[in-house]
Amino acid sequence: MRTEVRIRFDGSELPGGPHTILESTGCGPDTASIAEEPVLQQLPVWVTLDATDARLHKLMGLLQTHGIEWLEFRKDRFTGAELETAPLLLIDPIPQLRVFGGPRMGTKYDVTGACKVCGAGARQTSALLIDGEELSALEGRRAASTPYRDLIVEERLAGQLASSGITGLSFRGVFAAFENQVRLQLPWRQLCAAKTLPPMSPRSTGIIRHKHCVCGRSGVTGTAEQPTRLVYRAVDLADMQDVNLTWEWFGEPRFNGDVSDALFPYPWFLVTPKVWRIFQGAGVTEFDWIPIRVVDE
Ligand SMILES: [Zn+2]
Repeated sequence: MRTEVRIRFDGSELPGGPHTILESTGCGPDTASIAEEPVLQQLPVWVTLDATDARLHKLMGLLQTHGIEWLEFRKDRFTGAELETAPLLLIDPIPQLRVFGGPRMGTKYDVTGACKVCGAGARQTSALLIDGEELSALEGRRAASTPYRDLIVEERLAGQLASSGITGLSFRGVFAAFENQVRLQLPWRQLCAAKTLPPMSPRSTGIIRHKHCVCGRSGVTGTAEQPTRLVYRAVDLADMQDVNLTWEWFGEPRFNGDVSDALFPYPWFLVTPKVWRIFQGAGVTEFDWIPIRVVDE
């Protein structure tokens, strides 16, 4: 495992532009990218380096000298052998490839057993509806997600998963929703999991419990500054399936009882390497995979 750090800063304030600082730190096009055009009067610059790379500290030092603030995103990266031998893997969809979907697109949910305050525990009861205006994002892809981590795969990959003997997995249809209630069925399937694991170990890091709801399930979010490292007690994994959901629901909820206007929190998917192998074999690069750690207590 190695930890990768992505830095984002505004290059427009730098004397001589961002090229000067990138050159003097030895960050070439393999590690740095500069936006072609300014965005909101900023010139976004992204630099991706290994956490142990000396250039990282040099770059941060120079930014500090120039009084430039930056955003920092840390993520662990794993070898195939590490993923292969993990007990469970968190599926972490790449944010740039999201399509909008969920309650506000017309997907139906049963909230009778859900938390009245945050909506955690809402049960989807219809096919998944995604925004018809965003269909181009699916072109040439085999897997994608919504901002609520609804995971979808194109139907051939769904067929492969269905015939592989993976436990705990079922599928729903996926429709594109357009104006005037027009719906178009897509050659995609949503991945659904029956099994919810017990709460994770408090030793997990890289997640923040910032707004605890009375139900105790939501108000959890990932944090960019620290890599996500989930920990489970061995005893809590005794009944796990190949596809599982976290007991915790992530994201910032907004729910007043009206499903069509809800921002539901959502659980994360944890799967065995058996599932990863199928995605790997299909050449899917839309998801990152993060092994969990198991402890005795
Ligand atoms: Zn709640």
